[in-house]
Amino acid sequence: NINVKSDIEIAQDATIKPIIEVAEKIGLTNDDLELYGKYKAKLSSETLKKLETEKSGKVILVTAINPTPAGEGKSTVTVGLGDALHQLGKKVMIAMREPSLGPTMGIKGGATGGGYAQVLPMEDINLHFTGDLHAITTANNALAALIDNHLQQGNELNIDQRRIVWKRAVDLNDRALRKVIIGLGGPIQGVPREDGFDITVASEIMAVLCLANDLKDLKLRLSRMVVAYNFKKEPVTVGDLGVEGALALLLKDAVKPNLVQTIEHTPALIHGGPFANIAHGCNSVIATKTASKLADYVITEAGFGADLGAEKFLHIKGRSAGIKPEAVVIVATIRALKMHGGVPKTELGQENSNALTAGFTNLKKHVETIKSFGLPLIVAINKFVADTDLEVETLLSLCEKEEIPVALTEVWEKGGKGGLALAEKVLNEIENNQMDFNPLYDLSDSIENKIRTVVQNVYGGKDVEFSSKAQKQLKDFESFGWGSLPVCMAKTQYSLSDDPSKLGRPTDFVVHVRELKPSIGAGFIVALTGDVMTMPGLPKSPAALKMDVDEEGNAIGLF
Ligand code: ADP
Repeated sequence: NINVKSDIEIAQDATIKPIIEVAEKIGLTNDDLELYGKYKAKLSSETLKKLETEKSGKVILVTAINPTPAGEGKSTVTVGLGDALHQLGKKVMIAMREPSLGPTMGIKGGATGGGYAQVLPMEDINLHFTGDLHAITTANNALAALIDNHLQQGNELNIDQRRIVWKRAVDLNDRALRKVIIGLGGPIQGVPREDGFDITVASEIMAVLCLANDLKDLKLRLSRMVVAYNFKKEPVTVGDLGVEGALALLLKDAVKPNLVQTIEHTPALIHGGPFANIAHGCNSVIATKTASKLADYVITEAGFGADLGAEKFLHIKGRSAGIKPEAVVIVATIRALKMHGGVPKTELGQENSNALTAGFTNLKKHVETIKSFGLPLIVAINKFVADTDLEVETLLSLCEKEEIPVALTEVWEKGGKGGLALAEKVLNEIENNQMDFNPLYDLSDSIENKIRTVVQNVYGGKDVEFSSKAQKQLKDFESFGWGSLPVCMAKTQYSLSDDPSKLGRPTDFVVHVRELKPSIGAGFIVALTGDVMTMPGLPKSPAALKMDVDEEGNAIGLF
């Protein structure tokens, strides 16, 4: 029963129900929905308001080991675990991020799970969906245009055009736009200056939308965003420009979460999608909270490994929204652990339990990190058909020796049925292991010490080093009153360190912070390390080369 169909073929063969029928399962009616065609809907503002006072269900966070090019399957396990709990008769919802077209057209292909654990309609979700990312791009660029117009029209706020930090955005991987010169051509074409583009998912507006509690909070956060510095080197905000209302208006629908279904008709809210390496990596607070009001169990995902997504979920999103997960699932694959143990990608087909044992150190570090937050955890081994019995046995016994709860999952091949063992273990952990959640740093710690805590306790590094620019910013930011914000580390996803080539569990390393970036609207300070870029490039052979559409409009090769 080896599955040979591609993700998109499985998705297209699946039967999809009208979204109204799926909504009924969680107690919603037609009146609660704003339909986007037959299979997608946003929840109305009245419904979101009405749900606010309901009791909250339990949140389960899905994270992973450091990703490798071998693939981990976090979204796949998130969807499959939701389906498994659904099969066990639980009232469950999934809350996930919406994909960005940058990686979809680049290396990743789709981001809606895989095999028989997917959300539908996968083509729509992976392409333009309900237009949220377009709205965010537009709001981002409207702000950029308004800043340049302010310069053109006399610059009342004395903005130093060399110190404008707001960039333009596009939801594509387009390295040629990283640095641009605008305003050329003489006085009526604007004020010439250096500018640049970020990918939309790195825009602060994406983070703001994902951390806002409601439209009112969204507007407040937008007004706090720092766009530039004036000639006295003081911050200039959106509020100073007086355009938070216009930006919020552009986002009035994007702020509502999108309801879709899995192949097994489990309801899922897919909303917001910041990357976890350059932003905070979690779907919107509104989606997670709404799901928890509608269901007894919410499965939600945080991007990349536990060193990035989960750390930020716990220190940024959870803290600001008051969400504490009852249990954490750490996804690992045998293939990826073999890579962490030194096997090159081309040799993953060969059985190698020694390399697996060596690579286990990466998983073990993430287990220790989640434990240090005081949270119960379960390792989910996402089984690939090529994994051998010996390898599976080896990994199970490595976990058992360390008394780490573990379950083998086959949701990619079998859907929810393949995740029943994991679901039972998760329920068992929630039942028997009280969480005792404690963040690793206090907001009152200095920015420098918050970063150091993450480097030492989450990455296992020796220390952190700040460039002279970053050192100056540390001082300036404290003096602007931003010192009590959490930090959002921008770091490579591939390694626990800031060097993507250091796999496994590196030790004795120093993390280099080259620059800090204030995201005051989102409510965090970004620390840029290594070469992490806020505008990715395309690979030599982008996923786009395999994509097509037939004469009836059916997507081909989306994965
Ligand atoms: P992540 O969320 O960690 O980035 P995804 O869940 O998006 O990973 O999966 C990435 C790709 O790997 C998808 O195309 C998916 O179909 C594939 N995949 C995931 N799990 C398996 C598995 N067990 N066997 C084969 N392919 C898998």
